[in-house]
Amino acid sequence: MNCRSCAAPLTHTFVDLGLSPLANSFLKREQLGRMEPFYPLQALVCEKCCLVQLDEFESAQNIFSDYVYFSSYSASYLKHAHDYVEKIIPRLKLDSSKLVVEIASNDGYLLKNFLAHNIPILGVEPAANVAAVAIREGIRTVCEFFGEASAKGLRAQHGGADLIIANNVLAHVPHLNDFILGCKTLLSPTGVITFEFPHLLELIRNGQFDTIYHEHFCYFSLHSVSQALARHGLRVFDVEAVATHGESLRLYVTHATNAQCVPTAQLQRQRKLEDEAGLDTLSAYEGFAPRVNKIKRALLSFLIATRESGKSIAAYGAPAKGNTLFNFCGIRTDFIDFTVDRSPHKQKMFLPGTHIPVLPPEALHQRRPDFLLILPWNLQTEIVEQCSYIREWGGKFVVSHPELKVIP
Ligand SMILES: [Zn+2]
Repeated sequence: MNCRSCAAPLTHTFVDLGLSPLANSFLKREQLGRMEPFYPLQALVCEKCCLVQLDEFESAQNIFSDYVYFSSYSASYLKHAHDYVEKIIPRLKLDSSKLVVEIASNDGYLLKNFLAHNIPILGVEPAANVAAVAIREGIRTVCEFFGEASAKGLRAQHGGADLIIANNVLAHVPHLNDFILGCKTLLSPTGVITFEFPHLLELIRNGQFDTIYHEHFCYFSLHSVSQALARHGLRVFDVEAVATHGESLRLYVTHATNAQCVPTAQLQRQRKLEDEAGLDTLSAYEGFAPRVNKIKRALLSFLIATRESGKSIAAYGAPAKGNTLFNFCGIRTDFIDFTVDRSPHKQKMFLPGTHIPVLPPEALHQRRPDFLLILPWNLQTEIVEQCSYIREWGGKFVVSHPELKVIP
C-alpha cells in the first residue's frame, strides 16, 4: 500500500486494533444470526509526509450511501455550527452576492444558519437518505460524491464558491488528492476554504484510539495536511483550535497565489507546537500503541471488578468510536447491558460486532444502571448534565479516555 497523499510506500504501523466490523453498520434484530464482515483495523504512518492512514477495505460508496449519522442530534454541535456561521460572515464579508458551498452537508444543520442572512447556499451530500432530509428542510442540496469531476460540474452550473466548508469530511475521503483538487477547482480566485478535522496531536496525547475506524481513512496534523494542500496550489493562512470531537483544528485555506490572505501568528504557533511534539518525525508515533493497550486493560479491569461486585453497567451513546472501543476490547453484553441514544435512527438497533442493544434514553429510568459509560467523551459535559438524574439512584458516570475516570 502507498500513501494516500504523497504515494510513498507505507511500512510503519501506528497502531493495530485487530479486526472490527464497519463502525456504522448497526444491525436489526433479524440480522443478529447472520455472518458479519470484520476487517483489519490497522493504522499506518507515512515515513515521508507523516500522514496516518488506513487501507480502504470497503468502498466509500458502501460505507456512506445509507449513513445513519444525522448531525442535528447533538445540541453542542448545533451551537458550534451556529457560532461558526456568525463568525465567518463578517470575517469574509459574505452577502447575497456570494456563494457558500458545504461539502458533506449532512441534514443541513450548518447551512440553514446562512439562510437567515440571505446568503446563497449549496450543500453536497453523498448519502441519499440524509440529503433528502436537508431538501425537505429547504436546504439546496445535490446528492453526489465530491471530487474534481463533481467540482467542475458544480462550478459550471453555480459559479465559483466564495466559501467552501469541509467539516469532518477530509478524514472520510478515500481519494484525498482528488478531493483537494475538487476544492481547488470550485474555489473562486479570492475564495476561502475552511477545513475542520480532529487533530492528530490530541489523538496521540489523549490516547483517542477509538476515533480510528474504517470510515476514517486519514488522521491529520497541520504538518501532513499542509503538504497535501500545497501539492494542489492551496495554502493554509490561519488555524484555530476548536472543541469538537475532542480537539479539532479549523484551517483557513486559499489559493497559493492569493496575496490578500496573510499568514497569521496563530499559524506559526500551531506549527511550532507540532514541531515540538515531533509530529514531523516517526518518533512521535512510536509510543502510541503501548498507551492504547494500557487504556484497554484499565477499562477491562474496571468492568470485571464492577460486574464481580454485582453492579450493572450501561453505556450512553452509539457513536462509531464506541464500536471501535467495544470491538477492540472484546466488550459485549457480558459487561454492558445496553446503550441508549437520542437518535431514533439508532434505537432498536444493535451495535455491530458486539450486538449490544441500543435503547431510547428513557430506558435509563426503567433499568437504573449503577454505572453509565459515556462513549462520546467529547460530549461528556453535555451528557453528564442531561443525565444527572441517574444520581437519584446512586448512578455514576464513567469515561475511559485519556484515563479511566468515575464521575460521582
Ligand atoms: Zn505520505
